[in-house]
Amino acid sequence: MTEQRQGAERDAVGRAWRELVETARRTVTDGLVVGTSGNVSVRVGDTVLVTPSGVPYDRLRPDGPEDAVGVDLGGRQVLGDLAPTSELPMHLAIYRATDARAVVHTHAVHATAVSMLVPELPGVHYMTGALGGPVRVAPYALYGTEELARNMLQALRGRTGCLLQNHGTVTYGDSLPQAYDRTAQLEWMSRLWLTASAVPGRTPTLLSPERLKEAEEKLRGYGQQPPP
Ligand code: 13P
Ligand code: ZN
Repeated sequence: MTEQRQGAERDAVGRAWRELVETARRTVTDGLVVGTSGNVSVRVGDTVLVTPSGVPYDRLRPDGPEDAVGVDLGGRQVLGDLAPTSELPMHLAIYRATDARAVVHTHAVHATAVSMLVPELPGVHYMTGALGGPVRVAPYALYGTEELARNMLQALRGRTGCLLQNHGTVTYGDSLPQAYDRTAQLEWMSRLWLTASAVPGRTPTLLSPERLKEAEEKLRGYGQQPPP
């Protein structure tokens, strides 16, 4: 590899690490996790940058490579000295099975509460379409295990997010902002459903699969589109 190419790769890794640390910090400040719970990853080429296990995100240095942790798709550490997140099996399972560029795992409270009540968050709102349809709950397995990663992958079929029973959320996307936004939307929809379901004597209305499909298609063109 030329020196120029090596320099460009180092820069890309540096930018991705900074964005990863900012995203991980946001999960705490937005109340989606407490302490060192949850984890975040981003893919740069064949390297997956991940949060280290059990290190408070405000202690991670976003500039400079000291705290950066990277693994290859087989899980071999290729960058840094800190031990990678215990949920490496979940993150790697997603990168191997999909074209994801970023993954966010949280213990968001409303979403986790939903995971304890139903096998799937129903179609409560058109934003369900942003995750590919009603969000499934992966059966419980011990954190950090291959079993949990397998259960998660099953629940993710045709979706960009799922709930982990009695544990939390997982979403992925083309970028860290997109993966993060999907987690925030999932938590918001979970809160919406719990709020509406809590009214005594009333049952919330739900959107039909046709309505959800229609919204999913329209959401692909949502917002500012690049000029033709
Ligand atoms: P790590 O600190 O190892 O990333 O673990 C946090 C977590 O959420 C495990 O499920
Ligand atoms: Zn967790």
